[in-house]
Amino acid sequence: MKRTRRVDDRTVLVDLHFGQAEVLGSYLLLGERPALVETGPSTCLDSLEAGLAEHGLRLEDLEAVAVTHIHLDHAGAAGVLCRRNPRLRVFVHPIGAPHLADPTRLLRSAQRIYGSSMETLWGEVAPVPAERITVVEDGQTFRIGGRVLRALDTPGHASHHHVYVDEEAQLAFSGDAAGISLPGCPVVRPPTPPPDLDLDAWDRTLDRLQSLDLRRLCLTHFGVRDDPPAVLRELRRRLREVEQLLLEGWRAGEDVDRLVERLRGYLQPEVEARCGRGAADRQELAANYRMNVLGYVRYFEKRLGPKTA
Ligand SMILES: [Zn+2]
Repeated sequence: MKRTRRVDDRTVLVDLHFGQAEVLGSYLLLGERPALVETGPSTCLDSLEAGLAEHGLRLEDLEAVAVTHIHLDHAGAAGVLCRRNPRLRVFVHPIGAPHLADPTRLLRSAQRIYGSSMETLWGEVAPVPAERITVVEDGQTFRIGGRVLRALDTPGHASHHHVYVDEEAQLAFSGDAAGISLPGCPVVRPPTPPPDLDLDAWDRTLDRLQSLDLRRLCLTHFGVRDDPPAVLRELRRRLREVEQLLLEGWRAGEDVDRLVERLRGYLQPEVEARCGRGAADRQELAANYRMNVLGYVRYFEKRLGPKTA
């Protein structure tokens, strides 16, 4: 089974097979000193190694990884990779850096969402030694994998989110900031986990990404979209539509289960009609309805106060 496909002559998409194919990816930057954007979780290390092997590489050959943010599906394996490769460096957002060095709080927060599935989903989350971490600030450029990337602070999905832009190729590694869109299913799904979801910040992030004149978006979930303006427009619309839908239920005192049904009722029929049942299941692996609802509820509580009804 082939794990990788070409994005361009120096960039490769590695399918990490997170439960299924085409759900979660890592981008291999080829060059004299190869590197990655996104590590995936430790549970996907075998897939990552198989993908590297298709290009004659081992984990030990990597110079660096840049993680778009520290959620475990994007950066969970960073500590384990550092243990396996003693010269690996990790580029990360300033807010994310302390949590890579000491993942205790991050794990506690993830535990609240994933409960007993933590180990099965993510495997080991090892700390990244502080001296291996390079913090990149908003607007800063850095050299990685034989090219220059510019980090853009892009909150909304998470406060610790960077999009990494390859300006020469007019291409962006968008993490979760441009939403989820899987091959064979163009519907853009908003990933809205707690605790940082911030719709106003996300609007500004989308303004910023739309102003860049990008030709391609490299999504972590999953693959390349050649129509960035359409993706960003659809994400913006859906974030606000879901807000209206869930706010109405939340104000009426509906509990999380009821709100999940609301969200499912809004998205599922369209996804199944346009993309089939399989795509709906894969989307659910990339960002499930319950997590999305919990993110909005937390956001409403922060902005509007706890719901007492
Ligand atoms: Zn995320």
